Amino acid sequence: MRALLLLFLLVSFVVFVSAKYEGHQVWRMKPTTERQMTWLNYIEENMDEFDFWTSVSRIPGRHVDIMVQPNSQINLRMLLKQEELDFEIMIDDVSTLVANQMDEIRTRRESEHSFGIRSTSFDYNNYHEYEEIKQWVLDTANENSDIITAFLLGTSYEGRDIYGLRIRGTGSQNPYPKAVWFEGGIHAREWISPATVMGFTHKLIEEYRLGESVARMMFDNIDWYIVPSLNADGYVYTWTTDRMWRKTRSPNTGSVCVGTDPNRNWPFEWGGIGASDVPCSQTYMGSSAGSEIEVENVVKYLRERKAEGQDFLAFIDFHSYSQLIIAPWGYLEENYYTDDYDDQMAMADEMATAIKETHRKTYDHGVGAEILYSTSGSSKDFGYAPFTTDATNSGIGAKYSYTIELRDTGRYGFALPANQIQPSYEEIHAAVRAMGTRLLTELGL
Ligand SMILES: [Zn+2]
Repeated sequence: MRALLLLFLLVSFVVFVSAKYEGHQVWRMKPTTERQMTWLNYIEENMDEFDFWTSVSRIPGRHVDIMVQPNSQINLRMLLKQEELDFEIMIDDVSTLVANQMDEIRTRRESEHSFGIRSTSFDYNNYHEYEEIKQWVLDTANENSDIITAFLLGTSYEGRDIYGLRIRGTGSQNPYPKAVWFEGGIHAREWISPATVMGFTHKLIEEYRLGESVARMMFDNIDWYIVPSLNADGYVYTWTTDRMWRKTRSPNTGSVCVGTDPNRNWPFEWGGIGASDVPCSQTYMGSSAGSEIEVENVVKYLRERKAEGQDFLAFIDFHSYSQLIIAPWGYLEENYYTDDYDDQMAMADEMATAIKETHRKTYDHGVGAEILYSTSGSSKDFGYAPFTTDATNSGIGAKYSYTIELRDTGRYGFALPANQIQPSYEEIHAAVRAMGTRLLTELGL
């Protein structure tokens, strides 16, 4: 009965959402001059009628994808002409792609049921609603209670519980081992992020159970904190109302526009360059550092772990799309290389190589402020920034802090077909193992 109800909801969602994005197109432009790049960056921060699917880059000729609603297409065409900027239509009709993605999700659910696979099993190769993801966290902890604890990070603005997993191998001796932090789904529409995080986590647990040596060493010597879906309210909203919602769902005083960009809201150098103070913007920074409860929950939880004496070696925030591994700093306009630049790039290179060897996908890497535009209040800066007593302007001091932009490079964008979930988590699983191997080596293990 539950399955039938779910199918009914999915059917009505497809119809609803197809209508919503009818005629919406994604345009790709490749700015080459400083003037074009600065102009696009200004548009991204200030004009909310254009939805930037990828950020503006400082690298000349790198693409920028913008979703344009039918009413805005003439306007953007004129603006682009003024700037002498060409464009190509990357996605002709967003509603078709979204409908196709939802059809595939439904078909996969149906075939799972018709093949009589037990309905309680979790399909790692399909997209899931928030309640299912939450249940996955609790079930995974339950089924692996000797090594996994579920922790309640806190509740979202709308009151949803946000859970994470802590994996600590049975061979762990230290009461506060070194640790890594992985989070997914901070931007609601980037569905491949939670799906990938759950997929590679599952694979690592399987390997550990089989006694595979790298997985054993990783879990026995390092604590792995994993939160698959951080922006719970936004994610639910993408399933019920607006498939392309990005931000949180908290209201903004004095504005009709809802939501803050949680990845401009972190309490380190908040409110500087590359974050919008316009509440309707997709990159709205929020009313104060950590104003979003979803961000504040993480900050509080990590500061508690730090206070207990736990050191974080790595911090990764999974996003999509573009296939990039992005290191700090983001908030500086110049001199943006960190003291650990060489090591951070070496690690990124090892992860990119592991990814490439899995399914031949290329992930570029570099420093945020260099390969993209400067952004302040982003998670990668918070992850790397030193831990201090000032909770309003501090980080957690993880040497290897990154934003990873997952698949693809724009053919499907956020409407990535479910058949790409498995290759995505397989290649990221390889990257995580490469990361673990380097961390263990640095620990002298
Ligand atoms: Zn994102």
